[in-house]
Amino acid sequence: MSGALALATPVAGRGCDGCTLCCKLMPVDELAKPAATWCKHCEPASGCRIYDDRPHGCRVFFCGWLVNQAVAPHWRPRESRMVLDFQPAMNRLAVHVDPGRPDAWRKPPYHAELRIMATRMAEAGGYVLVACGANFTMLLAHQEFPLGHVLPSDRIVFAKTAGPGGWIYDVQVTPGGADSAAGANVLPTV
Ligand code: SF4
Ligand code: SF4
Repeated sequence: MSGALALATPVAGRGCDGCTLCCKLMPVDELAKPAATWCKHCEPASGCRIYDDRPHGCRVFFCGWLVNQAVAPHWRPRESRMVLDFQPAMNRLAVHVDPGRPDAWRKPPYHAELRIMATRMAEAGGYVLVACGANFTMLLAHQEFPLGHVLPSDRIVFAKTAGPGGWIYDVQVTPGGADSAAGANVLPTV
């Protein structure tokens, strides 16, 4: 799991309350737990069986709905089937979608709101990355790039060049170890 240490105080009135969706959707490096797979220590819809001894990555993770007042109530993970992970260091929002509800992010009002978030982030050079299992989609201001099946060892190469009508974006997935395009940003997967 990544985390949101700077925003580690839950919004008033919000709590996990047995949600546990992040224990399915998020990878946990310390446990070699892949994304989109239930943690072996999780009691779904209840909690963590090793709560007092859970890994550091679990201790510092707070989803965007839980700690960010600007995230509307209907983004509650149990309702939306998505876990929002704001990653300021990467200048991106990672959206982890429950593979059991792969179309959750395309349903109203979520898809329209994700496009608004992508537009705001693009103004600062950022983007939204939607992950449903190993299937990734990058959202930019007015564009959507289906990246397909991306392995943890793969790299997302993201470049933009000035065009006559604004920025022209190019997004590609390259196998781990491949050279990246000149002037491109090489991004880790989530
Ligand atoms: S996804 Fe959010 S609300 Fe659900 S258990 Fe994780 S931190 Fe709590
Ligand atoms: S160790 Fe506990 S908190 Fe961490 S992912 Fe597993 S069930 Fe969730």
